[in-house]
Amino acid sequence: MKDSVTIGIDVGGSNIAIALIQAGDYDNAHYTSIPYVYKSSAYELSSYIYEAVLKLALENSVSEEQITKIGLAFPGSIDSKKGVVNYAHNLKLYDADIKGAFNTLAPRTDIGLMNDADAATLAEHELGALKGCDSGVLITLGTGLGGGLILGGRQFFGGLKRGIELGHMIIDKSSKQKCSCGNYGCAEVLCNSAYLKAEGEKHFYTGITAKQVIDLAKSDNKTAYEIFCRYAENLSCVTASIINLLDIERLVLSGGISLSGEFLLEALKRATAEKCFFEMKCEMLLSMLSDKAGALGAALYSENHSV
Ligand SMILES: [Zn+2]
Repeated sequence: MKDSVTIGIDVGGSNIAIALIQAGDYDNAHYTSIPYVYKSSAYELSSYIYEAVLKLALENSVSEEQITKIGLAFPGSIDSKKGVVNYAHNLKLYDADIKGAFNTLAPRTDIGLMNDADAATLAEHELGALKGCDSGVLITLGTGLGGGLILGGRQFFGGLKRGIELGHMIIDKSSKQKCSCGNYGCAEVLCNSAYLKAEGEKHFYTGITAKQVIDLAKSDNKTAYEIFCRYAENLSCVTASIINLLDIERLVLSGGISLSGEFLLEALKRATAEKCFFEMKCEMLLSMLSDKAGALGAALYSENHSV
């Protein structure tokens, strides 16, 4: 009998990353990526994704029958039990019955659905930068700010299982920046790529990207460096608060902005250490799985939680 295959899918606002894992061999997973395209129904979106899954399978001489599990990670509020995306603002998805749609497309396949930051945390804990760690946090830095938490060697999804919302930690009550949740001064609006872009546009030119602001800061542009330092300062309010609250062993940065690498890590370590109650012993490091974490985590989740 041929090996069974697990598929992990990470659905983001720009791209959908897909991983194919044969016989549990996560080290040698095969990947593909397709652009995210808005579809008016859960079924249409799922069909679009499933077509790419079958193409990846074909390229790797895997038949549809071999695919026994599919895990999907979505941003936003997810009901894993029902397999429904309650809302994902970035994707304009509301009450989307993704599990139902995949059950129609692949009736013999088990389907798992989870939040994308939780998926990335699971993957880093099993395979990457949080491996072997009893307590740790992963923070995703991109268009929003998300995260996941490992406590007592296991992933913690919140006491009432609704998920943890690192992005909605209020770090500046006096801020004029309104968050999508209705509060002012949430970490999400003060530590996301839109913050760097907006600050950059005030001083440079319209249309500058967060990455370009960081690149200017790296090349010793004084104004860009000041913007970058303010960003790191904002983010350090989040990291120091997490460390003060939980006394974790490790904190991992992932997502688009974390690709600025050691430059961000060093600035953040300095700003965080200044705010920690105890001497900072928490190890701060970069994601090891990078943009593959979400898809791998979704696959891992489906191995144990698919319904
Ligand atoms: Zn908020």
